[in-house]
Amino acid sequence: MSKAFFIDTTLCTACRGCQVACKQWHNLPAEKTTNKGTFQNPADLSFDTYKLVRMREEIIGGKLRWLFFPEQCRHCLEPPCRDTAGEPTAIYTDKETGAVLYTANTKGLDVKEITEACPYNIPRASDDGTLAKCDMCIDRVQNGLLPACVKTCPSGAMNFGDREAMLEMAKKRLKEVQAKFPKASLLDPDNVSVIYLTAFDPKIYHEFSVASRHSPGITRQVALKKMASPIARFIRALG
Ligand code: SF4
Ligand code: SF4
Ligand code: SF4
Repeated sequence: MSKAFFIDTTLCTACRGCQVACKQWHNLPAEKTTNKGTFQNPADLSFDTYKLVRMREEIIGGKLRWLFFPEQCRHCLEPPCRDTAGEPTAIYTDKETGAVLYTANTKGLDVKEITEACPYNIPRASDDGTLAKCDMCIDRVQNGLLPACVKTCPSGAMNFGDREAMLEMAKKRLKEVQAKFPKASLLDPDNVSVIYLTAFDPKIYHEFSVASRHSPGITRQVALKKMASPIARFIRALG
């Protein structure tokens, strides 16, 4: 059965336990960083950082708000990265869970093409051109364990389970949050397996999600169209 995350950003305290747990489970090294005037650290996702708690200070409705956004691959239902690669030995979807998985064969792909295809600016390349990102902790999930980031989250912000159950949880929680924050919304719930709930205008969250792109490249709207492209679906059906 397809799996999904529900990430309730309104409950996130930016403790970064998820960020550390991700590195620990995948045996990824820490990175040297410098103070860039924000608590966000490191500054961005990288080949060695699959999960990053983004932080932003905003004045909203005359009040200072500190927005936290635990960023990771959305495991899109129709992933533009996979469809652009067109190479199932490099990028494929695990049928059982819906995880979008990258292999060492991503080294043979066009890095710019793949990274620009992602509407969420997720994949990152190593020096030799191999691409990496969140793998849904597929080894844990296939053995009945929660993803490391979910397991470690102390606040209830990170949730994981069957897609239908996560959607139900997300919709129920949205109603509760909207009672206090009328602009609260779920981000792209019909297109992705990582469903975020944000209390404020989602543009704020999306903006900092794409702020560090090397090239504007494909727009999110174009990419989302691409996700739903009948041609892409037709090609996959042939495959
Ligand atoms: Fe691919 Fe980006 Fe979607 Fe992840 S979020 S599956 S990297 S297109
Ligand atoms: Fe990292 Fe696993 Fe969480 Fe993905 S699911 S962000 S790989 S800990
Ligand atoms: Fe937020 Fe949970 Fe990650 Fe801590 S572990 S930063 S509360 S999502």
